[in-house]
Amino acid sequence: MLLSRHWLVVVAAAALLGARRSLQAQDNMRREDHLRWPGGEVTFHLGRNLTGTVMANIREVIEGLESVTCLKFSPLVGRRGGRHTTKVLYIRQGRSCYYEKVGRRASGSVLLKLGDRCAQRPTAVLHMFLHVVGVRHEHQRYDRNYYVTVDHHNILPSHTLEYIRRSWGVSYVASAGLPYDYASIMHHAAKGHPRDSRRPVMLPLVPCAQLIMGQRDVLSPADVARLNRLYGCKRYYLGDDIIGAVPYATWRRRALRLRRLEDHRRW
Ligand SMILES: [Zn+2]
Repeated sequence: MLLSRHWLVVVAAAALLGARRSLQAQDNMRREDHLRWPGGEVTFHLGRNLTGTVMANIREVIEGLESVTCLKFSPLVGRRGGRHTTKVLYIRQGRSCYYEKVGRRASGSVLLKLGDRCAQRPTAVLHMFLHVVGVRHEHQRYDRNYYVTVDHHNILPSHTLEYIRRSWGVSYVASAGLPYDYASIMHHAAKGHPRDSRRPVMLPLVPCAQLIMGQRDVLSPADVARLNRLYGCKRYYLGDDIIGAVPYATWRRRALRLRRLEDHRRW
């Protein structure tokens, strides 16, 4: 049976609403905590088929992250399939850049695929590495509707999940008390993944912010601060001087209280 265009829009909207509800239902702060690598230590294994350029970009990203945060990346000692209990980040050549989920997986190792088109740029690899260490897209924050309007009908169906707004509690932990950041390396561009490339997917409420949205050149100060706050890197930059940021100590205290409240509600 052929569905009219009107019905297709209704079905797509219902599917999106369902996906958003089920994702938000899964959201909780404890689960968000488990996305992070214990002690900020990531064990990785590089595939043999990675090209020289991609390897160099991975090295540059790791050195960059280690210089501004307390994250530590160590190569896996021993062969894949050998006896080890560590959760491992396997990095392989792929057709496109793909990471199966945000953060670490408690039950096993994770796979990051780096396709040539994106992995040729170190900062695109950096975006993927931030997903690896548990950072979500900035425009998925609970408060994003105060900063951008999203045209859900113009999102490519394969990228719908990247625009789903997360629950309030998860956003409070994940945004680490920092203000909404159009300049984040984790923010998509206005025309990121559109069905119709003539129309934007997201429009900022501050028009000039469109110039910076989707930048993939550098970590913004808030990106660095977010990593250091999430991993408790107290000797590194924590972003207390960013306008609109909740001081690190206050955010941490509030986040702990919220987690306790969430545990209490669950029982
Ligand atoms: Zn992403």
